[in-house]
Amino acid sequence: MISTRGYAAAAAKAELKPFHFVRRDPKDHDVVIDIKFCGVCHSDIHQVRDEWGGSVFPMVPGHEIVGVVSKIGTKVTRYKVGDRVGVGCFVDSCRSCDCCRRGFEQFCEKGMVQTYNSQYYDGERTMGGYSKQIVVDEHYVLRLPDSLPLDASAPLLCAGITLYSPLKHWQAGPGKRVGIIGLGGLGHMGVKIAHAMGAEVTVLSQTLRKQTDGQRLGADYFLATTDESTFKTRRNYFDLIINTVSANVDINRYLELLRMDGTIVIVGIPSAAMSVGAFPLIMGRHRLAGSGIGGIAETQEMLDFCGMHGIVSDIELIKIQQINEAYERVVKSDVRYRFVIDMASL
Ligand code: NAP
Ligand code: ZN
Ligand code: ZN
Repeated sequence: MISTRGYAAAAAKAELKPFHFVRRDPKDHDVVIDIKFCGVCHSDIHQVRDEWGGSVFPMVPGHEIVGVVSKIGTKVTRYKVGDRVGVGCFVDSCRSCDCCRRGFEQFCEKGMVQTYNSQYYDGERTMGGYSKQIVVDEHYVLRLPDSLPLDASAPLLCAGITLYSPLKHWQAGPGKRVGIIGLGGLGHMGVKIAHAMGAEVTVLSQTLRKQTDGQRLGADYFLATTDESTFKTRRNYFDLIINTVSANVDINRYLELLRMDGTIVIVGIPSAAMSVGAFPLIMGRHRLAGSGIGGIAETQEMLDFCGMHGIVSDIELIKIQQINEAYERVVKSDVRYRFVIDMASL
């Protein structure tokens, strides 16, 4: 066993505190990663606060992990000691169901093994990236492009792929009008990636507070959703809208912003169900869809795309001792635009 340490929540809504625990010794196909940085996703907060139900404690959160390989199992072929690598939201899947075989491990029919707040099929509990080290099967490890800095790449492992996947699937590109609801961790990655794909990008934010940033990130337009005129001027406008908001919004109002055959993709995960009217869907043959992170091959493709376009996250680097304060700021939509923990502070 590898004795290690991190920060954990002991119970739902508890503050994160220093925590000692063990990782398994590397098996044949495992790599041991010394974690250098870990992003802070709103999903960490939802789970620490048990907002989705079923959280298991103690919980070491963190699924935007980057670091350096420090040891490898005897049969590892993809990575060597010293490689710069990342780990995202899951660390195993059944590898044999239809989804796994097609490269959509995130939708594994047996259920993927999430990086934390989950367990392996043999019962081993998973603990996430707010920690010194992690042991992961090489098949679930990503390679970071040499051109990207480690710290600002961490959020690509969840926020980056969560926006890249639907933007690619619904063909964001030249001539397409994309709207992004919410300029937070996910939203700001969506603006950068959609812009790099060549789409026209509009940010739909609660206020104009983040307008200058939005334009710097690549947005063509920046509109306030508390301003009624937004819903008049952008009626029948968008090909694709991605909703990244962590709380419930009235999705019917946004459905009316789609042009014919346009799609709204839900990626934000509030705990309460949403209510959808029939008319806003029917008129214009609109579609309402969802999307969840991405498979391993697609995540690697996203990292390579970001490497090629020089895309990383805009981050606020924090010490792990600031994590509880950082959670409060994320909940208040007061992060520009992702907190990343410098694990040297642990
Ligand atoms: P975040 O950084 O907190 O960003 C969410 C943004 O939504 C905020 O910055 C804010 O943007 C807007 N917002 C917040 N509260 C709002 C409200 N009451 N009404 C309207 N807008 C509001 O969170 P994140 O890390 O990007 O994650 C966003 C959501 O996606 C979370 O629910 C998370 O669990 C989920 N998620 C899903 C996946 C997936 O695979 N589908 C992956 C990762 C995360 P403005 O200030 O611009 O309004
Ligand atoms: Zn996440
Ligand atoms: Zn599977």
